[in-house]
Amino acid sequence: MRKKFVAGNWKMNKTVAGAIALASELARKIGSDAPPCEIAIAPPFIALDSAREVIKKSPIKLAAQNCHYENDGAYTGEISASMLKAVGCDYVIVGHSERRQYFGETDAIVNKKVKKVLSEGMNAIVCVGETLSEREAGVTEKVVETQVRGALNGVLESEMKSVVIAYEPVWAIGTGKNATPEQAEDVHRFIRQLVASLYSSAVAENLTIQYGGSVKGSNAKDLFAMPNVDGALVGGASLKVDEFYQIIQSAHNFFTTI
Ligand code: PEP
Repeated sequence: MRKKFVAGNWKMNKTVAGAIALASELARKIGSDAPPCEIAIAPPFIALDSAREVIKKSPIKLAAQNCHYENDGAYTGEISASMLKAVGCDYVIVGHSERRQYFGETDAIVNKKVKKVLSEGMNAIVCVGETLSEREAGVTEKVVETQVRGALNGVLESEMKSVVIAYEPVWAIGTGKNATPEQAEDVHRFIRQLVASLYSSAVAENLTIQYGGSVKGSNAKDLFAMPNVDGALVGGASLKVDEFYQIIQSAHNFFTTI
């Protein structure tokens, strides 16, 4: 059975002290009982070490928001996958639309990062999704296919167990305008079929596909009710413990404990 997974992307929010406070509150709320799904938080780089300490006795996993594709060297301001591994990250978000939009990340760069994350033994959360104008032009599937093919180029079938895909329509990120459950389901089904054609139906069946884009406590249940929606990558709402907890709890009705 594929993994059900809710992850919080804190983006460029929270000081170290603020991150400790937020992670502590979340860990307290979740407790140590088995949650209904895998849970991860992605604080800013400088807070990863402290956050790991705070969540170490809880089921919450640690994620990073980005990485560089080289091991080390003269890349001022960058953080490598091996550094993230050493600090205790289980996941790295790769190819977020904000990285693609503001930092010029191409599918080729995303691909290098995915491979580096996998080679370090971590899991990659690969973000894909169309812009509003692309959706309106009717090229959503084409765009998503190009991004998925690009990100997974050269990734081995045996490595696919460490890949999560997050479908995040750009028009839904941080806008308060989420995709309808049916819109999400259509693209998730398309991605699963694509992965089946690239690898095998077993790989596609086991692939976790998160939805991301204005997920809140109030809309998570309807999204999770869709057969191909395996969880959520949550931005804004992950900064509010009650809201994020409600999203996690929404998994109870649909997902079995992993
Ligand atoms: C995100 O940044 O991945 C995201 C989905 O943001 P939000 O939930 O705020 O739309």
